[in-house]
Amino acid sequence: MADVADERRVLESVVTDLQIGGERRGGATGARFDVEDPATGEVIASVADGTSDDAVAALEAAVASRAEWAATAPRARGEILRRAFELLVERIDDLALLMTLEMGKPLADSRAEITYAAEFFRWFAEEAVRIDGRYAVAPAGNTRLVVMHHPVGPCLLITPWNFPMAMATRKVGAAIAAGCTMVLKPAALTPLSAFALAGVLEESGLPAGVLNVVTTTKASNVSEPLLADPRLRKLSFTGSTEVGRMLTELAAPNLQRVSMELGGNAPFVVFEDADLDAAIDGAVVAKMRNVGQACTAANRFLVHESLAEQFGSGLAARLGAMRIGRATDPSVEVGPLIDARARAKVDELVDDAQRHGARVLIGGAPIDGPGHFVAPTVLMDVALDARVLREEIFGPVAPITRFVNDDDAIHAANDTAFGLVAYVFTRDLDRALRVCERIETGMIGLNQGLVSNPAAPFGGVKHSGFGREGGPEGIHEYLETKYVAIHTNAV
Ligand code: NAD
Repeated sequence: MADVADERRVLESVVTDLQIGGERRGGATGARFDVEDPATGEVIASVADGTSDDAVAALEAAVASRAEWAATAPRARGEILRRAFELLVERIDDLALLMTLEMGKPLADSRAEITYAAEFFRWFAEEAVRIDGRYAVAPAGNTRLVVMHHPVGPCLLITPWNFPMAMATRKVGAAIAAGCTMVLKPAALTPLSAFALAGVLEESGLPAGVLNVVTTTKASNVSEPLLADPRLRKLSFTGSTEVGRMLTELAAPNLQRVSMELGGNAPFVVFEDADLDAAIDGAVVAKMRNVGQACTAANRFLVHESLAEQFGSGLAARLGAMRIGRATDPSVEVGPLIDARARAKVDELVDDAQRHGARVLIGGAPIDGPGHFVAPTVLMDVALDARVLREEIFGPVAPITRFVNDDDAIHAANDTAFGLVAYVFTRDLDRALRVCERIETGMIGLNQGLVSNPAAPFGGVKHSGFGREGGPEGIHEYLETKYVAIHTNAV
């Protein structure tokens, strides 16, 4: 178990200044802001507070290194990523502790995230050397078509606080592999993992100016000047639907390429032929990973009426047995939520559900004291108009409703503006295919509660956004397509 000295050591190992053109420096005004441990409310670090001048300087560094980086051999780009993958894996203990300190998630979740984050670098190290094109004879026969791909150019990458390392690597890894330079703006609540990542990439040989990092308490200091600048060619954003929509509008005048990984409201559907134990195991993962603070978190449990009571009591028993506390202790399974606002919102959703007649199987009462803790909560027979079913919960609360037939289940699953992921539990192959084809999401977990995989295209539809991260698709978000029509008289 980490002691105070370990905590101090990992916190002191992080350089908390902006990274611009290979230099580490404070912001233009010298201002700094505090980062707090959400389990205690104590200040654990002080970080440079970037201004719009700093953001423009970071873009200038990305523009200056653009041509040289695009011309760097794909194998060289891949090998930098491969070295960074190895360093992340080698340093998993310290990086996981750092993440738990700034974000609060259980150490096991932090370790899983470092592994997941590192795997994006291994994946894109392999993709860097597979950026291929196409050669074709035009249908009329007298022209040859050559299709090639080029890096899109300088990118702005904006990441949320809930997966501070993996949301960065799945953008940064793809951009590096494609030959793009970038400005990364991590969330102000969790900047330390991003700084640690920048340090790892520098050690791995990433040239100055390819990755620039700007932290700020005023996010518009970065988005407004950069999206107004035609030299920026791409925005990749992970965060809330509301902010994503606003940034898409800001990108419109310059028609920058945009990828949007936004909010979710995942249905978790258990059919009457499901393996109940497997469904409960899947529910624990889909609900409790990251203490429910995931865009992929199961938000609505739709259970066939014949299994609803058993599923509810089984899930309540599992969630009720989980240990709550400051998650630097490896035996803790439920850490705090990120801040007081997040806790207040979850408490409000639980109250609202109870006012709408939901039955509390476990949890439900607020936890006082320092740290933003919420007890795992299972709510049975939640009314369809309760807010907990309509909004992203972002906490350890599982609302359960019943359904009678497949059509009702599919209709309920699709009855949301979001479309990121759904979880489906059934042992009937025909039913599984029918349901997977009709559910309107970018991803489906079939008989499993986790879909995130660096080799797969992660992303949503509807208000969950557009674009894909990871998989062979991920690198194409950072590549332009050009085709050359070659006249020929050859037959
Ligand atoms: P958020 O939208 O408040 O913030 C996300 C990032 O955007 C942060 O870095 C924030 O500083 C920045 N931001 C906010 N306003 C900005 C502005 N005007 N200009 C530029 N940047 C701005 O979201 P959050 O609370 O940090 O994260 C939680 C949300 O992220 C949830 O809705 C969750 O579902 C979503 N999320 C989605 C995915 C996905 O892949 N689809 C993954 C993780 C999280």
